[in-house]
This record gives sequence, C-alpha cells and structure tokens, in this order.
Amino acid sequence: MKNSTRIFLYIFTIFILLISVSCALIPDKVKDQTLSCQSESRQCEDKRYRNPKAIEGLNWSRTFAMFKRYMDEDVVNQSPDFDVPVLPLNKNQINSLPVDSISVVRLGHSSLLLRIAGQLWLIDPVFSERVSPFKSFGPKRFHAPPLAIDQLPSLTGVVISHNHYDHLDRASIEMLKGKVEHFIVPLGLAAFLEDWGVDKSRIQELDWWQSTKIDTLEITSTPAQHFSGRGLFDRNLTLWSSFVLKAPQGKVFYSGDGGYFKGFREIGKTHGPFDLTIMEVGAYDKMWSQVHMFPAEALQAHKDLRGKLMLPVHNGTFDLAFHPWSEPFEQLTQLAPASGVDMVTPRMGEIFSISQNFTSVAWWRKATNQ
Ligand SMILES: [Zn+2]
Ligand SMILES: [Zn+2]
Repeated sequence: MKNSTRIFLYIFTIFILLISVSCALIPDKVKDQTLSCQSESRQCEDKRYRNPKAIEGLNWSRTFAMFKRYMDEDVVNQSPDFDVPVLPLNKNQINSLPVDSISVVRLGHSSLLLRIAGQLWLIDPVFSERVSPFKSFGPKRFHAPPLAIDQLPSLTGVVISHNHYDHLDRASIEMLKGKVEHFIVPLGLAAFLEDWGVDKSRIQELDWWQSTKIDTLEITSTPAQHFSGRGLFDRNLTLWSSFVLKAPQGKVFYSGDGGYFKGFREIGKTHGPFDLTIMEVGAYDKMWSQVHMFPAEALQAHKDLRGKLMLPVHNGTFDLAFHPWSEPFEQLTQLAPASGVDMVTPRMGEIFSISQNFTSVAWWRKATNQ
C-alpha cells in the first residue's frame, strides 16, 4: 500500500477516534436543515433515510477491521504506472454534439457529460484533485479532467446521485453554479447546494419514483441500495438515488452508487428497456458488498434493467478500494461477452453516441498506449 494512503488512513482514523465534537465539516445551515429526513418520504424512518432492505451499518468493530486490513494488506497495481490516456475536450466540440442523438463523455470516475434531448447535462461532476474532506489528504486523481470547468459551455443541468465526496464536490458546484440552470438532487441535498451559493429556485429535490420534466427530457429518481454522509454524524440524513433520463432520442439509466438489489428489476419493469445503462463497477469489496457491485453483479443488474448497451463507471480515476485499479475493466471484458452484454469502455474525454457504432480499446492496459 502506498505511503500517502497509509498516512491518510492513519490520520483519518485518529480523526474518527478523537473527535467527538459536532460535525465541523457540515455547515450549520446544512446541519440544521438535514437533522431529520423528510417524513413524507417512504424511505424516512427514525429521522434518517433507509434502504428498503436494511444493510449492515458501520460500527466500531467494522471500522477497526477495515483499518487493520488497510494497514496489513498489500495490494498491487492500485494506481496506473503509466499516463492514463485523456482526450482533451473543448467548448466547440461540446456545442457541436448532435442534438438528435444521445452523446456521452466520461470526464473521470462517475463524472459524465451528456447531450440528451438537445440539452447539455453533467452527472456527478467532480473536478477536484482529491475526493476527501481534506485538501491535502485523501484519494488523489490518476489523471486530469479532459477540460476545466471554465471551458464548459452553459449547461441545462446537473444531476447529483448522493453526497459522498466522489459524487458531490463542493469546489466543482461552486464553480459550476453560474452556468447551470437546473440542479436535480435527492432529498436533503438542496441544503448543501444552497449553502454553497446555488440559487434555491434552480434546485429540485426528488424522492424515489418522482419525476421532473425539462422541455422534452424527463428525469426520474429511482432507488439504489447505498447510504450517504460527508461527516461523522450525518449518515443517511440525505437520500441517495439512481436516475432514469427519458428523451425523444432514447432512455438512459444511471446507477449512482449501490449494491446489487432487486430494485433493478423493478426499475427495468417500470422504465426499461434502456438504450444505455451507466453502471457503477469499481471500489467494490467483500467487506462492503451490500453498497457497491462486483462486475458480475453489475452485468446482472444491466440485464434486470433491460439495458441494451452498458457503460461502466466509478473506476479509472481514484483508488477507493483494495482491488487493482484496472480490475473492473479486465473482469468486465471477460464476463460481458459470456453474459451477452454489449459494453463500451470509452477513454476519458472520448465522445460516443448511442446511435453510432463505437469501437472500445483496452486503454487501461499499458501496452495499448505504447
Ligand atoms: Zn457512495
Ligand atoms: Zn462513489
């Protein structure tokens, strides 16, 4: 394990063990407003949001077991030993994405740019160097984003799946807020965004199965088996979601974060089939298998959803687990054909359209880039 990661974990654990003060990482305004979940939601119970089927919570013994494993276990290839290929993207390219199709660009991890219904959307935009409550510690990105926020054109909207640092990045939201018309978020997240200066009138919170329509694009929040929290005391005070994006050009599903659960079948039945599923495949582990999917589970979820084409995300940018950084790609490349799943693995910054044939290359292999 890398020294920097070891030091970060050491400090983080000391932080958890010693700090019993109020959650200083959560602004007062946010803390006050999200002390309780919204009682009209079916997911709200005892002031916190919950999964339909209870998952094992984080307790001291699990935290200790996880910490011990981080310290003891030697993991190989946690980060690439070559420059991850990133295709630079610019405003002109984005503005000329065809309006009569659905185009997708991976910006890194789970951050995506979409042209859909003629509009431009970002999903879970994270442009910061690290995904951490700290500026100088925590998982650091393997590669720069394909473009900077100030190079982006005006956007119709941003969709946020939940408030974990690798999906909700304060610095990115603060830089984006001037060029985004709509922020679509799960219940409870408006308080965070307002605290960071986003105009209240631009934010829409959705409970599971609720929809909103922006011109011809319909966005529906759908269930996910996950959790939320940014500090020590705000676990599950805001909701987590997957999303369905329905446009005249086709239907897209975005998993957000979450373990495999029977909700995928229900979503597929209600909103499928999907032209594209964007599925989280990365940062999985047997110790937290209920909240992140293994590659085989993501393929099954894609089939439950009645997906036609699958794009795996939540990988390739940050080291958030014990598995080698490229393992999700290697396993999926092996398993997808056997499962009868069509998959695309575009490079960061590479544009692909659901209406055109796309040839994926194994960019995560060093040999491909030499
Ligand atoms: Zn998460
Ligand atoms: Zn995540």
